[in-house]
Amino acid sequence: MKKADLHAHTTASDGTFTPAELIAEAKRAGLDVLGITDHDSTEGIAPAIEANRGNNLTIIPGIEVNCDVPGGEVHVLGYFKDVPGGALQALLQRLRDGRRARAQGMVDKMTALGMPIAWERVVAFARGGSIGRPHVARAILEAGYAANIGEVFDKYIGRSGPAYVERLKLSPAEAVEAIRQSGGVPVLAHPYYFDASGAMIKTVNPETLVPELVAAGLRGIEVYYYHYPTSAMVGLMKIAERYRLILTGGSDFHGLTKTNTLGGVFVPWEAYERLQAELAA
Ligand SMILES: [Zn+2]
Ligand SMILES: [Zn+2]
Repeated sequence: MKKADLHAHTTASDGTFTPAELIAEAKRAGLDVLGITDHDSTEGIAPAIEANRGNNLTIIPGIEVNCDVPGGEVHVLGYFKDVPGGALQALLQRLRDGRRARAQGMVDKMTALGMPIAWERVVAFARGGSIGRPHVARAILEAGYAANIGEVFDKYIGRSGPAYVERLKLSPAEAVEAIRQSGGVPVLAHPYYFDASGAMIKTVNPETLVPELVAAGLRGIEVYYYHYPTSAMVGLMKIAERYRLILTGGSDFHGLTKTNTLGGVFVPWEAYERLQAELAA
């Protein structure tokens, strides 16, 4: 039986496996199809394709865009024929610029509070990657204004701290539209979260979110996912049927930081076939 995993991360976002290591893991797991879906980055795709030369593994270039809804976060997956450009890259650039401006804003506030930190140190901690709040935190710690990272957040850059700066907000509809405009297939990622004991951690209401995103061009919904009880999957399948959405799924593999194993979630082969049909259309 053919085996697909449509949701995996590399070191291009918060995965611990390099693209080449992910390919090796996919071969070990006996996958036929692998979707590479890093958070807000497509950097892992080209090296993965390169590492995959000569293998019997089909790579689907993808993305997972982190979006905001009132009171929470929503992730939107996108699948493409090739490494996406255009509207999606413009959106990713906007997110990177937003993260950088936010970090700069926190540095400015620390300076205004009489605790200057060097921007160069923030940049250095990012090690060439996308600059974010964790790098500001490390620079504050290094400057000696707190005893540990927890204290940095409690005293300065946590949500109620005096040097906190709000994140750039992105709606899931904007992400869906950008993926569409770049020739991709937008899919709502894991609408629910469940922990290992089966308890729901947090949720958006797909009954209201899905119609809004379908209007923006949504084509699929992630139904096959870690720890999803049958009842949750059945509920999502009904919504998918109502809007003729593709039922996708995957392990959300992150390497060593999470227990998810690559290929560890059953994904019907039809999910891949329908995605391919959409991408070919
Ligand atoms: Zn996610
Ligand atoms: Zn993910």
